[in-house]
Amino acid sequence: MSKNSVAGVLLDRNLEKHLDYEIPDEMQGRIKIGSRVEVFVRNALCKGTVAILKQASEFNIRPLHRLIDEHSLSEPLWQLAHWMSRYYCTPLQKALKCMTPPNVRREVKQKTRILVALDLTREEALKLCSELRRNETKQALVLEKILASEKPPLLASLLEELKISRSAVETLVKKKALRLIETKESDLDDAEFFPSHPKILNSEQAACLMEIEKSLDLGTFQTHLLFGVTGSGKTEVYLQAIQRALDLGKSALLLVPEIALTSQTIERFRARFGLKLAVLHHRRSLGERSAAWEALKTGEVKIAIGARSAIFCPAKNLGLILIDEEHDSSYKQSEEMPTYHARDIAVMRGKLENATVVLGSATPSLDSYANALGGKYRLGILSTRATLASQPTMRIVDMKRALDKVGGFSHFSPELIEGMLERVEKGEQTLLLLNRRGYRRMQICSECRYIAKCPHCDLTLTYHKEVNLLRCHLCDYQTLLLRECPSCKGHSQMEFRGFGTEHVEKSLRALFPQIRTLRMDRDTTREKKSHEELFKQFRAHKADVLIGTQMIAKGFHFPSVTLVGILNADAALQIPDFRSSESLFQLIAQASGRAGRSDLKGEVILQTFLPDHPLLHLAASQNYTAFYRKEIDERRQFSFPPFCRLVKVVFSGPDSTETERTAMNFRMALVNCAPSDTEILPVLPAGHPKIKERYRFQFLIKTKAILPIAERLETLRQNRAFSKSIQMLIDIDPTATFF
Ligand code: ADP
Ligand code: ZN
Repeated sequence: MSKNSVAGVLLDRNLEKHLDYEIPDEMQGRIKIGSRVEVFVRNALCKGTVAILKQASEFNIRPLHRLIDEHSLSEPLWQLAHWMSRYYCTPLQKALKCMTPPNVRREVKQKTRILVALDLTREEALKLCSELRRNETKQALVLEKILASEKPPLLASLLEELKISRSAVETLVKKKALRLIETKESDLDDAEFFPSHPKILNSEQAACLMEIEKSLDLGTFQTHLLFGVTGSGKTEVYLQAIQRALDLGKSALLLVPEIALTSQTIERFRARFGLKLAVLHHRRSLGERSAAWEALKTGEVKIAIGARSAIFCPAKNLGLILIDEEHDSSYKQSEEMPTYHARDIAVMRGKLENATVVLGSATPSLDSYANALGGKYRLGILSTRATLASQPTMRIVDMKRALDKVGGFSHFSPELIEGMLERVEKGEQTLLLLNRRGYRRMQICSECRYIAKCPHCDLTLTYHKEVNLLRCHLCDYQTLLLRECPSCKGHSQMEFRGFGTEHVEKSLRALFPQIRTLRMDRDTTREKKSHEELFKQFRAHKADVLIGTQMIAKGFHFPSVTLVGILNADAALQIPDFRSSESLFQLIAQASGRAGRSDLKGEVILQTFLPDHPLLHLAASQNYTAFYRKEIDERRQFSFPPFCRLVKVVFSGPDSTETERTAMNFRMALVNCAPSDTEILPVLPAGHPKIKERYRFQFLIKTKAILPIAERLETLRQNRAFSKSIQMLIDIDPTATFF
């Protein structure tokens, strides 16, 4: 007899090896690799995933308790999890966790909600209402309420608002005056949109789309890099590519950066494809996520849109994966293992699913552009804006000269002030970008130079004036302002240094009370919907100037913005990371993409204390290819990606000496077994050397290929010979090497 009768189950709980269970007769043939099941471990029920099927060889093994989902993971997703486990040095079940998010693990079902609607004409209802007022006041109240609402209200909120029980409504249903409508819970049902139709593509768009369609038609794996300046119509190409995938009976998955997953983006896709769209967002309830997950798995819905983790969604018969703004750092999971990059996962998944992968960007990551030039990806170029809008003009303003002119400190050069006032007068809008939140950057003793730091992290505390507290940007610790220096107890004042967005806003209001401002940074967007809310307010022109951190540079479309001011364009260059130039170039390009997206001409002002810095000139001229040539030379010279692969190994622990020693020992063990073409750099304190009472040390590995070194790392990780209080994080292809 050759039937599989034992299933090896990988528990969701932390236990790296699988446990064997007998497959009971009633589940024979239905248990597959990747099925979700429930089993007894001692006396407790645990959930897990079937990892292996085999013949019974032992007696007395316990049976599987329950089959939760036969088709939980498709074959390609299962293979993807295996690859991730090897490539990212993570236990298989941690990789599987990405594909079985909390809504799946906890088996959260979508909640239904009940709406109450009239079953009579308005006239009949009004008549009935006046009759009921005499002795059935509660029923009359219900009818009045419904007559007064624009849309059928939710039963639950109706009852709560009127403070009545359900029976009044039930009676009206029996009288055929009302009817109850059951719908699935969703926050999108109410969104309004106007249907949009495919645009006639310009010749560049048509050429790019044709290449993508060719791959789709062939149904073989191919990655395309769509390199198109902001506003060049990449999204229109995505939309038409998705349509082609649908025509071929395949599904499509679109990833956008976390911050760009706004209703504006979603509506653009819904407007084209109607409601056949699953939005995967961590702000949605678990029930909604389950519904979206289920609809994708059955193929009922064929388009998914989401942020990073949506790359693992179970879209059936996946034909097309699109990654918008592929260079965006939010696609990389750095804080937790597996330290995956959604773009790289997309390429691997595309390969496993024989799907077409499209990476889009106005400023491709150096790695992707190099892959395109090397022929690994197919390069498509959109060189001009799709509408009448022209590229904005860019100006570099020397802040040293500007400050000499105004005779003191100011955030704003005369050029920027003039520009803003002119925009206010014309009813246009301005964005001001400063990559630091808070009011003042630090408090320092003018005598002994003592700096107020977080007691839990090795970080300077930022002064937030709105709450009048010093705050740690790593752990959110807050404390009162220092009145005197705790170190020298001197008589001189504690001083402030450096500025943040809060200060920029206050200064602008003080200078020009008539200019209306809004601020968008992590402090003003803590609440669930505040980000979207601020964005809507600014779009509705409730303010003239929007001040914010880099979150305002990305993805938004504000038709009336014609001026973008970058207040400290050079700040990013101070971070000792091989990617800082690349990030700054991207930031400036993204920010300038916000200026003049409609037919109004845009302008960008870059304020800097390094007006001669070559990078700023490249950024100002928006010459990506020149930037690429310069940067790639440096990468080659110093041997950084794409000329090698990097791994960052980070240790953190409560004791500094022990953590450092552990890192050093681990590094030595690795040196002894590493492949010969691998360079292992020394152990150093991390860029943030202490976070939340844990000291951090790290070292970098430069190598030719990830898998051989990952294998060594995995063996060492499994034999870990260090204390439990120390954590190790293996960051494969890290996007940041310093912090
Ligand atoms: P990107 O995604 O590259 O930033 P979008 O797709 O948002 O660019 O396009 C910018 C603007 O150009 C949008 O308003 C879009 O509707 C418009 N557009 C795109 N393609 C065309 C086209 N072929 N004809 C006319 N307008 C277009
Ligand atoms: Zn702290």
